[in-house]
Amino acid sequence: MDKKIAQQVKTFLQTPQNIVIVGHKNPDGDAVGSCMGLYFFLKSLGHNTQVVMPNDYPNFLKWMPGNETICTYEKETEKCQQFFDEANIVFTLDFNSFTRVGDLQGVLENCKANFVMIDHHQAPGDYAVVTYSDVGMSSTSEMVYHFMAGLDRLDLLSENIATNLYTGIMTDTGSFRFSSTTPTTHRVIAHLMEAGANGTQIHNNIYDTNTPDRIKLLGVALNNMTILPEYNTAFITLTQQELDDHNFKKGDTEGFVNYSLSVLGIKFAAIFIENKQENIVKISFRSKGEFSVNKFARAHYNGGGHNNAAGGKSDKNLEDTVTEFISILSNYKNALQNNA
Ligand code: 5GP
Ligand code: MN
Repeated sequence: MDKKIAQQVKTFLQTPQNIVIVGHKNPDGDAVGSCMGLYFFLKSLGHNTQVVMPNDYPNFLKWMPGNETICTYEKETEKCQQFFDEANIVFTLDFNSFTRVGDLQGVLENCKANFVMIDHHQAPGDYAVVTYSDVGMSSTSEMVYHFMAGLDRLDLLSENIATNLYTGIMTDTGSFRFSSTTPTTHRVIAHLMEAGANGTQIHNNIYDTNTPDRIKLLGVALNNMTILPEYNTAFITLTQQELDDHNFKKGDTEGFVNYSLSVLGIKFAAIFIENKQENIVKISFRSKGEFSVNKFARAHYNGGGHNNAAGGKSDKNLEDTVTEFISILSNYKNALQNNA
């Protein structure tokens, strides 16, 4: 982390502050891990600290240390509003635009506190007084570690912090296999293990707690996979009915898109998930190599993310969304065929 950023933050944190930490809508392992890691760190520095999430997160994250202290705006709207009213500092983690927090958007826009952004997505907004943005980072959780290091306070790295940060790094790197995983990431992980993070246990808690319904839904998803060899592309669809039939819970479809990418020769993968409640189709994109799904999601699906992992949505119905997707692909034929 930049020395200038460290100095700015140190000035902010000289005396005890009222701090709110916010993650993005539909929080994932990195959102919860980075927020909770930072939470324990700021608490140990003596600050009054609260984590607020826009909405609920999957059950497989609900063992994470301290997660029971999180307030979700969706469920405890007034209480959350009060935290923002009383905050001097708001940390926004794992997102960089107020459009990523759902119904909390207006609350953040009207909040008088000073904002600090810690994030690794492309194209950061300019709402923060302190912006620690680095698209080269594996995860926001890794950045929270570097944030602690930048403040010269790695001595405060506790088991609770280590477990949260390990979880965020592990989930955002696909268990340390995506190209965002650097030698430094592994050095950070080594230190987190020394501080008490139990990698085997964390992996079990996240990946080996499937319900039979979820595994059967995965079967449906795999059956629905369409492969388009001419575009080196594979995509999956799931209808609301298929979700309902399998007692769908938040997070159940996490990681499904990666199965498309595991097919030999496939460089671009998508999953289209019907959401009747919001009247949208939620889309996840993944790629291997140069093809930027961030650009693709921004250009066509009001979304964004990283070069190799991004998301967006469509207001068309599922069938029309898929038809449109296939027609859009024809504009990318060269890029997808030559994609290294
Ligand atoms: P996922 O497909 O796992 O939901 O998300 C993959 C990446 O894309 C994450 O980094 C996530 O933050 C980003 N992402 C997912 N959906 C959206 C979206 O609707 N808008 C933007 N800007 N980013 C998204
Ligand atoms: Mn992340």
